Amino acid sequence: MLQYTASLFKIIVLGIFLLVTPVLAQQKFSTRQIQKLKKEILQKVEAQHKNTQVMIDKVFSFSELGFQEYESSAYLTALLENAGFSIERGISGIPTAWMARWTNGEGPVIALGSDVDCIPKASQYPGVAYHMPMVEGAPGHGEGHNSGIPVIVTAALTVQELMKNNNMGGTLVVWPGIAEELVASKAWYVRDGYFDKIDLCIFTHVSSNLSVSYGQANGTGLISLEYTFEGEAAHSAGSPWRGRSALDAAELMNVGWNYKREHLHPLKRSHSIFTDAGDQPNVVPSKASIWYYLRDITYDGIMKMYDDANNIAAGAALMTDTKVTSQVLGTAWPRHFNKVIAETMDVNIQNVGLPSWSEADQILAKAVQKEVNSKNEKGLSIVLSGLGKPSGNPRSGGSDDIGDISWTIPTVTLRFPSNIPGLQGHHWSNAIAMATPIAHKGATAGAKVVATTVIDFLTQPKLLVSAKDYFQNIQSKETKYKPMITEKDPPPIYLNEAIMKQFRPQLEKFYFDETKYDTYLEQLNIEYPTLK
Ligand SMILES: [Zn+2]
Repeated sequence: MLQYTASLFKIIVLGIFLLVTPVLAQQKFSTRQIQKLKKEILQKVEAQHKNTQVMIDKVFSFSELGFQEYESSAYLTALLENAGFSIERGISGIPTAWMARWTNGEGPVIALGSDVDCIPKASQYPGVAYHMPMVEGAPGHGEGHNSGIPVIVTAALTVQELMKNNNMGGTLVVWPGIAEELVASKAWYVRDGYFDKIDLCIFTHVSSNLSVSYGQANGTGLISLEYTFEGEAAHSAGSPWRGRSALDAAELMNVGWNYKREHLHPLKRSHSIFTDAGDQPNVVPSKASIWYYLRDITYDGIMKMYDDANNIAAGAALMTDTKVTSQVLGTAWPRHFNKVIAETMDVNIQNVGLPSWSEADQILAKAVQKEVNSKNEKGLSIVLSGLGKPSGNPRSGGSDDIGDISWTIPTVTLRFPSNIPGLQGHHWSNAIAMATPIAHKGATAGAKVVATTVIDFLTQPKLLVSAKDYFQNIQSKETKYKPMITEKDPPPIYLNEAIMKQFRPQLEKFYFDETKYDTYLEQLNIEYPTLK
């Protein structure tokens, strides 16, 4: 009887255990099991190196500017769809934007993202250590965004396989930073709720080392604005007194801002271009537009610059008897990265290490550094730069609209070593390495770090609790996210349309055909490296 009761008790206990197992499943990984999973995923990512290379070469060859990433998006979503991800296309009213989702049941929801767009006039043959455009004047990957999504997709597909094989609960969400160079998609994703039900985000960006940072990132946030003035046309010689020049207004606005510039704190940066400066000299311009990026290291500072610019625009309109309107074309919050995710990731970075560069890789890197008169002529990085910590001494510089996501959910940016150090950025020289073994090896290293970090968060729920605690109680303690765009601001999806229309027919001839060639260098018949 006693024995029977004991057996019955065991059965009941086992029954309860089986019932609660799915909920507890992700908490039951021992340190040894986690190490084993990580070892396995590192091998899987390495085994994917060929696929990563094809993705990098392919996106490089599409050379698409922001909001025009049609080929890149069609190609990348097809890969993910084939792997069982469900795709939501055209998110936030942006035709080239999408979100890919795959779930294995209850568990953390992890977003993995990177940018895809390229740079105007940066067309360049890869592997060639001097300026040699593939298509003169055409856009090109002179930043290296072609390598980011391949890092993410490689990590996502390998983690997916591991999750299936080991019955690990969780959801993977892969998403592209569309039009990052215009900082014009991520704030819209946030506004439209695409990050509401996501636990954390791992973002990646091309760099020349393998690193992650936490706290306020170096660089700025920004608001991107276009002011349009409207006046009255007239014959410039016959009856100029009947005209009111919109171009005069735009020029006066620029003069006003340039006087203002002297009184800006050095951490603030601003730059502008004329997007419409009239049609021909003998017609008084009835319309003119000027486009500004206004940057600072705080939200309040950016909004103060915005107010000042509005005042200067109104002054210019008064002086010229013209009318002015403005449109927000992009926004980026100053970035703040999560300490818990960064520290977790840094352990994986140290484990993965930098790629082993070949002699050819180093020869190319040094030749490019020399070609652009870089202060750094040491070639590719061979020492990890280490975990980036807040210095208390903020540095000005570029922006990335990942800032808006970093103020919505716990986020980090992994910088991976697919490019050459010491180049000036947004330049043809930054495209040279981007479809060579340098980019390919750097991306594999990046994918290893992303994949092992995702494994950490899938297997150790306490890490996510700590990451959220940092986000809520430290990062957001004094600063609260306020969007710079309104509910109504549309994403400026018309940008770059005309440029891509002009160049796409010529660029199409250069699309990478992976069915015929092993690498893009092979297709282009380029000896690696090609030196002067
Ligand atoms: Zn970028």
